Amino acid sequence: MYNFVIKNISNKYDFTELIKVFLTPDEFRVYTESEFSEIRPEDRDTCDLIFFNEELSSDKNHIKRQIYSFLSEQTGKRPPWGILTGVRPVKLAGELIDRAGSVSDAEKMLEEDYCLSKEKADLILETYCYQQEIYGIPDPLSVGIYIGIPFCPTRCLYCSFTSNQVEGSEIERYLEALKTEIAFVGRRMKETGLWPESIYIGGGTPTTLSSEQLDDLLQFVEDSIDLSRNIEFTVEAGRADTITAEKLKAIKRHGVDRISINPQSMKKKTLELIGRSHEPKDIIEAFQAAHQVEIPVINADVIAGLPEETPDDFAGTLESILKLEPENITVHTLAVKRASRLVELDKDYHYKHAECVKEMLDISRNVLTEAGFRPYYLYRQKHMAGAMENVGYCRDNTPCLYNIRIMEERQTILALGAGGISKMYYPDENRLERIPNVSNYEIYISRIDEMMERKDKNIFMEVKRGC
Ligand code: SF4
Repeated sequence: MYNFVIKNISNKYDFTELIKVFLTPDEFRVYTESEFSEIRPEDRDTCDLIFFNEELSSDKNHIKRQIYSFLSEQTGKRPPWGILTGVRPVKLAGELIDRAGSVSDAEKMLEEDYCLSKEKADLILETYCYQQEIYGIPDPLSVGIYIGIPFCPTRCLYCSFTSNQVEGSEIERYLEALKTEIAFVGRRMKETGLWPESIYIGGGTPTTLSSEQLDDLLQFVEDSIDLSRNIEFTVEAGRADTITAEKLKAIKRHGVDRISINPQSMKKKTLELIGRSHEPKDIIEAFQAAHQVEIPVINADVIAGLPEETPDDFAGTLESILKLEPENITVHTLAVKRASRLVELDKDYHYKHAECVKEMLDISRNVLTEAGFRPYYLYRQKHMAGAMENVGYCRDNTPCLYNIRIMEERQTILALGAGGISKMYYPDENRLERIPNVSNYEIYISRIDEMMERKDKNIFMEVKRGC
């Protein structure tokens, strides 16, 4: 057990997150100086007591570098993301390019000041430069719209999202409330001059809806929101067991130009283990059907680090998916969150699979680059195996605009439905304010008026005020 005391800090959160990259929570304790002073001397565990920041620096990165270097020596690990624990390293890459004046100087800072490996520094710089080349900075009155459908046929082992398994009549009740919110948002956008740059219908699994429900919902979106300047419209088709030719036709008919079919793995046994009620052949058929109705961009999600998978299994999944010819492939690292069933089975899962996941991500970068894909967005989450990353790749210049904007945090996001978290962007302060909807779908239905009032007060009235 290590007992760390960090001097001259008041909040230990960031430091604890960094230490967690090296050690499991059972292996260490962190104290601020004042917390430590409150422990009676006779109760102090002095044998493994280590003090950081003896020189009382106020530079957080300086203290983190000390911790990184100490723990690298102790554990023999050199985590490739260095001292970075945040979710949006690409944003930092942009800030450093602005500050340093060149990509090469920014790279130097990432490696020296943030202890990133050359591979990770190159990855985020390349991603940032590509984003700028394709989409640049958003118009101040443009918004991204997210519409949540919080239902799935069954619950996956690692799921920590809003996903409910309910009767059809419950879905109908939900859709009625959702349409009320869509109509309200569409009207207030027109009144305040906001316009959608991208729309993303996600979940859960939106294709849990019947083809009639999907058709009706998409028609309602078209009728309620002015889509004349909209650049991209995504529907997450998610699980192959929910995709039918009729649903895909409905999606195509309403101008949706991007769908996401999420195999996660092409190994039959893994699909069973993670609780998906479909087989690899269903995924192949879903892709064939989507190509048949000519959806312009198809994304495929895969996950590195799934239970019992080896790097060879993962490489096999990538190989099979490339044969299905998606335009986008998003490589996720398995995040074992507190709300998932997986964490109940093994709370240290993400530590045990760190090396294996690292190898898988290296494979994905090599294989996808070779196949003509480029990284266009990237983010990290807590509790990821090996503290790694999620990377969105695309070919033929088809990056997902919505994904880029969400990570950039320079655009207002209007999130509709249960669990949606809207974000009001204040350009002058370069700041976002979160405006959440409730995540329980039944409470969402019963408090729909309140959800709309929150948006009106915190977004539309603010835009009217000229913020
Ligand atoms: S498809 Fe996604 S949202 Fe649905 S249960 Fe699986 S992980 Fe959760």
